[in-house]
Amino acid sequence: MRIDKYLANAGVGSRKEVKKLIKDKHVSVNGELVRSDKIHIADHDVVCVDGEEISYQEYVYYMLNKPAGYVSATEDNFDPTVMDLIDDYHKDLFPVGRLDKDTEGLLLITNDGQLAHRLLSPKHHVDKTYYAVIEGIVDQSDVEAFKEGIQLDEFMTKPACLKILALKGEKSEVEVTIQEGKFHQVKRMFIARGKKVQYLKRTAMGPLELDPDLPLRAYRPLTDDEIHSLI
Ligand code: URA
Repeated sequence: MRIDKYLANAGVGSRKEVKKLIKDKHVSVNGELVRSDKIHIADHDVVCVDGEEISYQEYVYYMLNKPAGYVSATEDNFDPTVMDLIDDYHKDLFPVGRLDKDTEGLLLITNDGQLAHRLLSPKHHVDKTYYAVIEGIVDQSDVEAFKEGIQLDEFMTKPACLKILALKGEKSEVEVTIQEGKFHQVKRMFIARGKKVQYLKRTAMGPLELDPDLPLRAYRPLTDDEIHSLI
């Protein structure tokens, strides 16, 4: 495996960041300073950054703050995909679940298929929390209706927690937590209440919360604590 991919997979940084580390002479292999990001690493090689040995990780986990305008897929014929935002994209990485093209916020990118399956499986009821701006005045009757579950065309949603954060003129800022992740679910729940979602951003998925310091379009490796909270 190429040294830059190896270091990126080990969670040292993005492909761009590790190339810079190599260029700035922070990386050694078997005690020899590395001068090119094109060299290949064998299983027995000892790779160090600033003298500290790097252990290779099979799985990588990134938190992406998805912007609007990108589809949650690895390939698309028409639109840019979220993988276009990952500069060390290698083919086994994929987004866990889908956010609509116009939805922003937390998206987990990984190559750990088992974890993705578990997070997405209906059996595991992983809560997803969204911040939303709604056209219309959200009131207590909506809060109660969400608590009961909302009848959509093909199914009744599980109870959802709707919190009114602020009312601004004809708009409402809310936080909503749902237990499933069906197609356009939040938008359809509000449509069922005669209201339209104007802006939607995912802020949490299960125990994983969107890092408030992560700018839109940026991503970072999950911390060990974040990984363990999911596994
Ligand atoms: N619900 C929606 O309607 N859209 C999303 O992107 C996520 C949840």
